[in-house]
Amino acid sequence: MTDNFDAIVIGTGQAGPSLAGRLTDAGMTVAVVERHLIGGTCVNTGCKPTKTLVASAYAAHQARRGADYGVITGSVSIDMARVHARSQKISVDGRTSNEAWLRSMAGCSLIFGHARFESDRTVRVGDELLEADRIFINVGGRAVVPDMPGVGEVPFFTNSSLLETDVLPEHLVVVGGSYIGLEFAQIYARFGARVTVIEKGPRLIGREDAEVSDAVRSILEAEGIAIRTGAECINFAHHPNSVAVGLDCSEGEPKTVGSHLLLAVGRRPNTDDLGLEKTGIETDERGYIQVNDRLETSVPGIWALGDCNGRGAFTHTAYNDFEIVAENLLDGADRKVSDRVPCYALYVDPPLGRVGMTEAEARATARRILVGRRPMTQVGRAVEKDEPLGFMKIVVDADTDAILGAAILGTSGDEAIHTVLDIMAAGGNAATLRQTMHIHPTVSELVPTIAGALTVCEDREQERSRP
Ligand SMILES: Cc1cc2nc3c(=O)[nH]c(=O)nc-3n(C[C@H](O)[C@H](O)[C@H](O)COP(=O)(O)OP(=O)(O)OC[C@H]3O[C@@H](n4cnc5c(N)ncnc54)[C@H](O)[C@@H]3O)c2cc1C
Repeated sequence: MTDNFDAIVIGTGQAGPSLAGRLTDAGMTVAVVERHLIGGTCVNTGCKPTKTLVASAYAAHQARRGADYGVITGSVSIDMARVHARSQKISVDGRTSNEAWLRSMAGCSLIFGHARFESDRTVRVGDELLEADRIFINVGGRAVVPDMPGVGEVPFFTNSSLLETDVLPEHLVVVGGSYIGLEFAQIYARFGARVTVIEKGPRLIGREDAEVSDAVRSILEAEGIAIRTGAECINFAHHPNSVAVGLDCSEGEPKTVGSHLLLAVGRRPNTDDLGLEKTGIETDERGYIQVNDRLETSVPGIWALGDCNGRGAFTHTAYNDFEIVAENLLDGADRKVSDRVPCYALYVDPPLGRVGMTEAEARATARRILVGRRPMTQVGRAVEKDEPLGFMKIVVDADTDAILGAAILGTSGDEAIHTVLDIMAAGGNAATLRQTMHIHPTVSELVPTIAGALTVCEDREQERSRP
């Protein structure tokens, strides 16, 4: 028997539940299918639990630094069971409220199980066949387990399994020196583990400007985290009660032995077992569903939202996808993915807030560019908080005064970056930013200052690679 709905939503990540809310408000019947935990990655194995751990790690770090502020504390120890329970509670609360919300929607049927397409209009979940003229795919992604020699012979964690345990590793080896790996590295170092980060590329967070990578590396190394970049031929082998990771780096020890291993080498979309071959939906060679600027797939009546469409890899991009689809479909709007300004943060401490192009990307467009920079040692609020690590910079088009991008690596960098983001989104330029009065004392108040002190400066990437 086939159950007919006005719409089917596959996955309850950061777009699906909100979309179900708008569709049911518009009077539609909606089947929402979830195969695992409501709330998806962000709520259960991503942003929420990790940022909760980041907060515990920050508390530990500040407690150890108490004397710097004239606050005398006793010795600091970590209760991993309580740390873990706190992070679990925040995830479970998020999941429970999401589920209650979905169940409260009139016209919404919440179905647990793995959804697979049977045709362009039908989806099977176990014995149930669901049919609808509108289908929204919000299946997200999962950690890649790399095909590195020996990986099948050693125990390892991914972000999901590490978050399930309250064990404090004696020595955590993190393979992958990008956003997820670095957050976990600093979290566990601050909890008291010895941590080694192994990165294949020549530097950490290789998508960022080299000066950002270098500054993040120094910050982590100053906390005792060992970092090995340029690690060719990574391989794994058993070692008594531990894991040996072979690096074959050009310099340093060719092997490191850790008590626990975290693989954080990227994500892949959950599209390999979705029955897409029974539809006309096109994917790229990595499995990302191809969508146009309005998030429509190659099959009319089917949309793909969130990480599975390869147009973003963040909670805010998935949620923005929901807004685009819902407003185009229900409000007669004409919103597009290309209208949004790219932005994200890396939640090491201090955090990195990023918007628009990096300096290297801006230079690659052959524009004439101007750059404003300031170290956090010259940001009053950072000095007053005794958190003066990092720097801020803004990149501006010398001919049009358009803001091309910015990076704030420093205390509150994840918040202060919005001062640039909002001006860019509103179509303002560097002059708008310069002329906006900001509150004192904040990190944000120095953003207009750097926009007012722009200079033509040498290409630091090239400068850096000179012998
Ligand atoms: C460790 C970590 C930290 C992160 N931190 C941040 C952060 O600080 N800020 C940020 O913006 N982003 C962060 N992210 C990324 C963010 O979590 C994701 O971008 C976001 O959750 C993507 O949401 P989504 O809606 O695309 O899908 P997901 O949240 O992945 O949800 C997809 C859902 O679909 C379900 N599903 C999959 N296939 C099927 C199927 N066939 N049938 C039924 N159900 C199915 C899954 O079970 C899942 O519940 C982090 C990610 C990780 C891993």
